[in-house]
Amino acid sequence: MSENLNPFSIAQAQLDEAAEILQLEPAMHAFLRNPMREFHFLIPVRMDDGHTEIFKGFRVQYNDARGPNKGGIRFHFDETIDTVRALSAWMTWKTAVVDIPLGGGKGGVICDPRELSPRELEQLSRGYMRNIARYVGLTKDVPAPDVYTNPQIMAWMMDEYEMLVGHHEPGVITGKPLELGGSAGRGDATARGGVYVVREAARVLGIDLQGKTAAVQGYGNAGTFAHKLAEEILGLKVIAVSDSRGGIINANGLPAAETIAHKANNGSVGGFPGADSITNEELLELDVTVLFPSALENVITAQNAGRIKAKISAELANGPTTPEADAILYENGVYVLPDFLCNAGGVTVSYFEMAQNAYQYYWPVEMVHERLDQKMTKAFQAVHEMAVAKQVNNRVAAYLVAVARGAQAVRLRGWV
Ligand code: GLU
Repeated sequence: MSENLNPFSIAQAQLDEAAEILQLEPAMHAFLRNPMREFHFLIPVRMDDGHTEIFKGFRVQYNDARGPNKGGIRFHFDETIDTVRALSAWMTWKTAVVDIPLGGGKGGVICDPRELSPRELEQLSRGYMRNIARYVGLTKDVPAPDVYTNPQIMAWMMDEYEMLVGHHEPGVITGKPLELGGSAGRGDATARGGVYVVREAARVLGIDLQGKTAAVQGYGNAGTFAHKLAEEILGLKVIAVSDSRGGIINANGLPAAETIAHKANNGSVGGFPGADSITNEELLELDVTVLFPSALENVITAQNAGRIKAKISAELANGPTTPEADAILYENGVYVLPDFLCNAGGVTVSYFEMAQNAYQYYWPVEMVHERLDQKMTKAFQAVHEMAVAKQVNNRVAAYLVAVARGAQAVRLRGWV
């Protein structure tokens, strides 16, 4: 039988496993298995050549028992409602595992942003916000950047919202440019949080990371900063990196600053001086100490999991590993730092951004780093202790921690 790669079925199957161990009552389990609300809408955009293109958009509010829904918006040609549902579920568990007072949400638009002019992109972003404005707000649901969305897009969306409601409300969206109420340290927060948990994992595993090797799959926001910070903070030597067009490898190490500049100038990491080419598939199977899957879902599956040689797989992407692959990695002793723990740094600094917006007073970057480190370290410890206590892999342990917190909020509210 071929493996089920539907991200939402995967998210539900992961929850089911945790629900059984936690012995969740059937109604609670059923309630946590599906989004509480979802919105589907059409966004017409007048294109530069005069014709009107109709885009399909989604916003899913998975669960807001612990606080307002929170999560990014992806612009992607492969977007589906089930992907957005899965990502909103993972946001719910993510905010719970780092224990910030927020729920989980996610949005998406089916489009290829690389084909859009800046004007078309602005119209699409404003059109997206016009459709969701009545359902979002700092006490309801707070979007943020994700795959192919960025601070400029957040600025347009914030502006559209404020024009509609007639007052300033920067906390309606996070990941904004600094000049419009963004937080210091939000740009590299996803990767930085991941690097902090890799540091903690190495400590419990007794691995000295200094001079050890790493590989980064995916070279967007999370991947590029993972390269830089793995070097800077952990002393790792990153020997291979890849993007959607392919990858590069140099056993002597790839310097972060030069590789990132090469990608910015050429649109891809390919052709970096002194490096050989490598495919994404080959990169994942390299014998490195730390692997950072930092792109999209379902890259480590039953097909290749048996060939993963990394000691630690630090999941900066959402959903990179399938349940069948998880079982194989656990069996083979690959230490997985599961996505909604490992990449929770982004939403944690988004929460700091909301807090700063609320009193319009901004923190220095050192304070952001220190508080992020505390949150990530505490979350790692909770998951690690659960994994040891229950003799389960880290993903199941992270679910046990997060779902218990989510269920308790639902229970205390008297919903179920
Ligand atoms: N899109 C990021 C994530 O998947 C950040 C979400 C946020 O900051 O709300 O965690």
